[in-house]
Amino acid sequence: MNEQLTFTGDTVATCGGCGDVLTRGTYERYDGDRCRECRAATENEATCDGCDKVLLEGDLYPEAYFFSPWDDDVSSTGLAYCQPCLDSGGGDDDTFYCDGCGRDISTDNGRMTHYRIFNDGEQVCLKCIMDSLLAGGVSNLDDEDILASVIDDGKPWGMFFDRGQLEAEGWTTEEGWTNKLFNDYDADKLASKCKALYEAGRPFIIAYESLSITGGEGYISVYSKPEHALNWYGPPTNNPTDAWDAGVERPS
Ligand SMILES: [Zn+2]
Ligand SMILES: [Zn+2]
Ligand SMILES: [Zn+2]
Repeated sequence: MNEQLTFTGDTVATCGGCGDVLTRGTYERYDGDRCRECRAATENEATCDGCDKVLLEGDLYPEAYFFSPWDDDVSSTGLAYCQPCLDSGGGDDDTFYCDGCGRDISTDNGRMTHYRIFNDGEQVCLKCIMDSLLAGGVSNLDDEDILASVIDDGKPWGMFFDRGQLEAEGWTTEEGWTNKLFNDYDADKLASKCKALYEAGRPFIIAYESLSITGGEGYISVYSKPEHALNWYGPPTNNPTDAWDAGVERPS
């Protein structure tokens, strides 16, 4: 941004093209430090899909998002919004920003919400959660409240996995906890099971086997790994030796 002094001693921005003082409109960006007239010579006009205002293309942000947390390809809605519309949540209602992978992802698929809330406010997508669980179980989620809700309160904090997915990565079910009918009365048993695994330095995962678990009763399995195969105190990582290399003490 170019600047010049006014008679009152204030600095004002000036256009890098024509030198005119830039009078900021309510929502126009000054890409390239140039005024609207100078930009209009090289930029097309387009309409904001939120407020129908006609703006220069550079002042509109195309809406792009991932259809699901497991999608590798970004999708475009073909819509574009101005900054104020984005700031007010317009055009963005159906997506959320994942604090794990930094992607905009559709909020749900009509059947399942694509994120969970971490650390009192971060929205984290199910793919990030799944990767973190597979890398080191519930302890690896890096959220003490979630861990406590499982090992202290027996909350079945888990998710669905593809059939055979956990076994393929070396996880095995705990005796008595394979496709087990679970309801609130089993919370104490689940808590002591998971606490014992945690204290033994063994990563564990709660896998949902039936949809009705969200209604307070359903089938779950508790998976674990036979040895402490994760970093306990470091950030989530797909390489269990990272934390050890960094000097983190192995759980005993
Ligand atoms: Zn200009
Ligand atoms: Zn708008
Ligand atoms: Zn994510």
